[in-house]
Amino acid sequence: MTAAVLALQGAFAEHEQVFRRLGVDCFELRGPADLDRPFDALILPGGESTVQSKLLRELGMFGRLQAMIREGLPVFATCAGMILLAGQIEADPGDKVPETFGTLPMTVRRNAYGRQLGSFRTRAEVKGVGEVPMTFIRAPYVVSVGETPSNTGDIPEILAVVDGRIAAVRCGNQYAFAFHPELDEDRRLQEYFLESVAAHIARTA
Ligand code: GLN
Repeated sequence: MTAAVLALQGAFAEHEQVFRRLGVDCFELRGPADLDRPFDALILPGGESTVQSKLLRELGMFGRLQAMIREGLPVFATCAGMILLAGQIEADPGDKVPETFGTLPMTVRRNAYGRQLGSFRTRAEVKGVGEVPMTFIRAPYVVSVGETPSNTGDIPEILAVVDGRIAAVRCGNQYAFAFHPELDEDRRLQEYFLESVAAHIARTA
């Protein structure tokens, strides 16, 4: 199984380490030529969504990646990556709003926990996985999930709620987390994702 890790900005190296330890071949997406290599899954790391989005556009990668996700490519997205998938962004007046793929019908609020108290750790239940550690770093949260299907015909499903706020969503093959699973030792979320990638490969083979 091969995963492409978006490596334009942010915390991509940590994801690569984790997925490699789980036996996944990883390579970095740094430019349009990298999109010509075959891959089974896409990892969208945390970082700064406005910067990532701008670079994706400038490098000519935005449209191709968006089309692949619309066609059902499995995606593991964390934090800024979650923002990039969102159909709608809610921002404070004056705050930048990144252009997003818009493939996951949900409304996401950027920097939702304020600038000072932006980072914290907790443990909470993830549907289908159990209780996992969660590290939030200037995290977004999901204000609401859509009731109409995505391009792939899937309806978003809430996987985790932390302090009354949606922190993880699945929509078909797209998995979006407001926190950073790659920074904790627990690997169950990655394993859960890889099971669904394997199922996707089996279905489409
Ligand atoms: N606040 C960042 C953004 O809006 C996300 C933070 C993160 O990825 N750790 O892009």
